[in-house]
Amino acid sequence: MNILILGGGGREHALAWAAMQNPACDRLIVAPGNAGIAEIAECARLDIEDGARVVDFSVANSVDFVIVGPEAPLAAGVADDLRAAGILCFGPSKAAAELEASKRFTKEICDACGAPTAAWARFDAAQPAKDYVAAQGAPIVVKADGLAAGKGVIVAETVDQATDAIDEMFGGAFGDAGAEVVIEEFMTGEEASFFVLCDGADVLPIGTAQDHKRIGEGDTGPNTGGMGAYSPAPVLSPEVERRALDEIVKPCVAEMARRGTPYQGVLYAGLMIADGAPRLVEYNVRFGDPECQVLMMRLGAQALDLMIACARGALGEARVNWADDHAMTVVMAANGYPGAYEKGGTIAGLESLPEDSMHMVFHAGTAERDGRIVANGGRVLNVTARGDDLAAARDRVYAMIERIDWPDGVYRTDIGWRALAR
Ligand code: ATP
Repeated sequence: MNILILGGGGREHALAWAAMQNPACDRLIVAPGNAGIAEIAECARLDIEDGARVVDFSVANSVDFVIVGPEAPLAAGVADDLRAAGILCFGPSKAAAELEASKRFTKEICDACGAPTAAWARFDAAQPAKDYVAAQGAPIVVKADGLAAGKGVIVAETVDQATDAIDEMFGGAFGDAGAEVVIEEFMTGEEASFFVLCDGADVLPIGTAQDHKRIGEGDTGPNTGGMGAYSPAPVLSPEVERRALDEIVKPCVAEMARRGTPYQGVLYAGLMIADGAPRLVEYNVRFGDPECQVLMMRLGAQALDLMIACARGALGEARVNWADDHAMTVVMAANGYPGAYEKGGTIAGLESLPEDSMHMVFHAGTAERDGRIVANGGRVLNVTARGDDLAAARDRVYAMIERIDWPDGVYRTDIGWRALAR
């Protein structure tokens, strides 16, 4: 089978790594890919948000199966274009991708099927939104409706902060994404991510994870795209996972099918868990980055079979072959990230690291220059390992990091602290 993966981050390196181990994969192309992906697959230049070009490229290269990594091509309808051209594709339609692209849409789906989530209201003008906040009090959460790269959510501690956030959003700080604002009840509890494959009708859980969004030790400082993750998430016990599936994911997937927009692909449910009861924070319509890295480390080659079964509508017969293992990934970022940082620093020592079913360095923002690997982004490397328990995975990861020679690289030393302290 000839496979095309769209994207070029650590998530797509992990997807490519899992696919390459599966004998069903004859040829693997990743667009645009990165320096790490180029070591295991062909990389191609392609505008991955342009459905017509992705279809033309797929036909020209006899691609049998396309895996869409990031949300932007999904929100642009690339999966619809591929399916219309008869090409098997892993990822939801534009209509189903609304579950990530519009917060109001997700709230309406939850209300329609009774899935537990924060109480909410939507506004298209500032004054009624401010009146609502004044009546509800703080803390309270103010969200731009549309995609804002993780920045359109303000958890306001005070009514004044919420009022400022409302002014900012209606003032155009997030462009069209903020033309509509969703205001939510502040939920307390522990957050975790739950990943479920959906083929439109059947669902198959493929793992849980927790990530660390803040740049600083102890989960302090500014938000980032994610500084590390581990799987499984201990807070998502089998009982909580069953409740999340039965009370949240299955009803929402059924509601999407009832509306004539069945969901096909991976559904990533961000959950808030308090007293063993899960509530939905948000859906994403693709794998998380870096959560994908730990999921792929644990699933290995079978991930490709599962994604193919999902795309073919054959999840009913699919099973996950679970190992009783744990995985951790630690992000090495460029000094200064998530603010300004320099590109171009040489990263040495990678070639001496083990790369096998227990250890992998997935590349995010890297490039190759004259035979050297150089930093080419904010989040640069995802150092990933597996172990019989989380402590063993953690020890392997940090032992690998010790051997990476990159003076500009920074990373957190406490990834997994909450789970390790349990
Ligand atoms: P990201 O891309 O980072 O996942 P997003 O823009 O899609 O973010 P959400 O996931 O909805 O936004 O919110 C980001 C974070 O804000 C959540 O992970 C959670 O920590 C916090 N948050 C969002 N909604 C609530 C809520 N109702 N109660 C408490 N915290 C919340």
